[in-house]
Amino acid sequence: MSNSFSDLGIRNEFLQSLIDLNISIPTDIQKKTIPLLLNQKEDVVALGKTGSGKTLAFGLPLLQLIDAENTQVQAVILTPTRELGQQIYTNLVALAAHSPQTSIASVCGGIPIKPQMERLKQTTHIIVATPGRLIDLVQRKAVDIKKLSYLILDEADEMVSALQKDLDILIKEIPKSRRTLTFTATMPGAVKQLVQNYMSKHVVHLEADMQQMGHKGIEHRYTVVEPIEKLEILLHFLHSKEGQRGIIFCKTKAAVNKLAKKLAIHKISSGAIHGSLTQGIRDRIMGQFREGFIDILVATDLAARGIDVKETSYVVNYHLPDTYETYVHRSGRTARAGAKGLSLSIIQQEEIERIPEFETELGLSFSEFKKQSAENREEMNLILWAKKIFKTKPNRSISDTTKEKIKTVLHHLTKEELVEKLLADHISAHAGKNATSIPSLKK
Ligand code: ADP
Ligand code: MG
Repeated sequence: MSNSFSDLGIRNEFLQSLIDLNISIPTDIQKKTIPLLLNQKEDVVALGKTGSGKTLAFGLPLLQLIDAENTQVQAVILTPTRELGQQIYTNLVALAAHSPQTSIASVCGGIPIKPQMERLKQTTHIIVATPGRLIDLVQRKAVDIKKLSYLILDEADEMVSALQKDLDILIKEIPKSRRTLTFTATMPGAVKQLVQNYMSKHVVHLEADMQQMGHKGIEHRYTVVEPIEKLEILLHFLHSKEGQRGIIFCKTKAAVNKLAKKLAIHKISSGAIHGSLTQGIRDRIMGQFREGFIDILVATDLAARGIDVKETSYVVNYHLPDTYETYVHRSGRTARAGAKGLSLSIIQQEEIERIPEFETELGLSFSEFKKQSAENREEMNLILWAKKIFKTKPNRSISDTTKEKIKTVLHHLTKEELVEKLLADHISAHAGKNATSIPSLKK
């Protein structure tokens, strides 16, 4: 099989962009998809692992198939989240850097619609959208998708399940003659429905490296904890990963907020992201995570699908996901583009039986992530305590006179003595707390 994008039929202007992006060898899914999209006419259901380059697999041929002379909207790419929509838009713009005549617009929800309406008055060839906002724009007659040639559903299984109603509204606006191209890493039952309801009779099914759903570059681990020690175990794990990028998934928005606050109390900076935050905040947090200003994202499954942040080296399931597919997508935020990554699930005793279920359903294997000995954990807690002090900012609300009095009391201590005493004080306070929290010690 061809080993270059040029052999796959990609034109010079896009080869140039690939050089700029430092991308030279097509991935398996790209090798299979690109010639098919460029040279054939069928609808396509493509299945490829998380992080295997599906965006390029549809993005490159699509850009090449667009007729820039034609002023109609020719392609719509639908995504389940605004963050993913923006990411795909950015990817396409980078791929089209050497073909400025191609016009791409992103119309996702959560931001004012008026500027998008203005933007769509200009020639637009490709629209990347979340379904709700596109419906709104169609209803306001700000965009005409009646001449569409290509409909791409990224995260297709999610689009035809969670977003089915919106999709059905949009489908009515799009000509039957369109080519429908769908991409995803997981294909539960929803896909049969996808083919039946949204695709033509001639569908080509493509798979790349899908003998098992699990992704080989991801190490799957779990650790069983008591509810009371869950946060402590997470803190120790985060300490061991300091300087690396990771995403912690929680089940609910409230749990995301609560955990981000707890991390902040321990002076671990993170960004929280979920669907009840304003789009401005969501964009800011995603931006800071992408740019590396924050290393840790605490998120609901809003961030589970499609999000591609370079060097995300671990994912934590602080709560297990409800479905097997969601596990695949969450863990797939790490080990992207051939990298390796760790997916750690912090579970409680009663959840342990779910691990072999995940193994059988997804064809992957978990290993236990052993908790440290009590001694090591105690030492780790002390180090975390010291780090917390190190990161604490001076409290400006304490009056100077009070500060002076405190300084006078501690005046004769050397730094070493002060550290010794603080440590001893912390240990005795901590021991007291532990004793009261363990019922057997109260007797
Ligand atoms: P998927 O949609 O399959 O989960 P993405 O399209 O988000 O994966 O791509 C994952 C990462 O791989 C992106 O950072 C992308 O730039 C990179 N990538 C895509 N194709 C290639 C390639 N042929 N060589 C190297 N990196 C690639
Ligand atoms: Mg993707």
